[in-house]
Amino acid sequence: MWGTFLVNSRIIELCSDLGIDTIGFFEGGISIAFAYNFFDTTDNGFSTYTKRADYHYIVRIYLDKICSYIQSLGFMAEAFVDSNPLPERYLASKCGVGFIGKNGMLITKKYGSYVFLSEILTNMPLKLTMPNKNSCGNCNLCIQACPVNAIYDKTKCLSLITQKKHINIEEVNSLCGNIFGCDICQIVCPHNKNAMPSQIDEFKTLSFMEQDAFIYASMDNSFFKEYIKKTSCGFKGKNIIIRNALIALSKRGDEIRQFKGNSEYINFYIKLLRGD
Ligand code: SF4
Ligand code: SF4
Repeated sequence: MWGTFLVNSRIIELCSDLGIDTIGFFEGGISIAFAYNFFDTTDNGFSTYTKRADYHYIVRIYLDKICSYIQSLGFMAEAFVDSNPLPERYLASKCGVGFIGKNGMLITKKYGSYVFLSEILTNMPLKLTMPNKNSCGNCNLCIQACPVNAIYDKTKCLSLITQKKHINIEEVNSLCGNIFGCDICQIVCPHNKNAMPSQIDEFKTLSFMEQDAFIYASMDNSFFKEYIKKTSCGFKGKNIIIRNALIALSKRGDEIRQFKGNSEYINFYIKLLRGD
């Protein structure tokens, strides 16, 4: 019979060999945080998490290895990453992977909030790990820094707006140069100041995600398929990124008259930005 302590140690050891050291054990499962930030990016309107290979794909490769190990011991194991019914942040906070900050992010001790969350559900006998205490204290920096007061009203969040297919003129004007996602409430967080870089090479920053907004506003199908589609912002399609890049260019005062939309959709936003 497996002792729970031994089981936890085996899983921790395997994760450590894989470069993962932020995990917790809850009733019926394991919460695993994957650090992704290499702290080598410039601010070109793309959120840091989008500047690397699609995490759904990469994280699943790692989870499958851990699941295979658990299954080889005779237990059930099923992996989850994003887009699933599990309350990921809540589970991670309950078992000490981190705490949920006022900005709504799961904040880990070692990597701050620059982590992707995932879970493995299993019937292994696990020794449960304890929650961390919330360490926001009196800090309100994220609330003060959010340009659209979205901390308490997520419908206004720029990260969400960059991903919406149709946005109105107020939303266009609110975008602040964001092309996909928004990092403002993470950048100001004191828990991210000394966060450690990722040890997972597959998440290294992709140089084609570090270009000027002009490149993305002008991209064609082959650029999108060859590069952007393979990142974590590829799933929303090409046109949303072109639209947001055009908005970013217009916001910084660039003349966008030279752009000819490749579709009615893009033409609509070009006209809106020109005020035609
Ligand atoms: S991601 Fe940006 S817009 Fe959304 S809450 Fe944070 S700072 Fe505000
Ligand atoms: S910025 Fe301050 S209040 Fe916001 S999540 Fe970080 S520690 Fe908490």
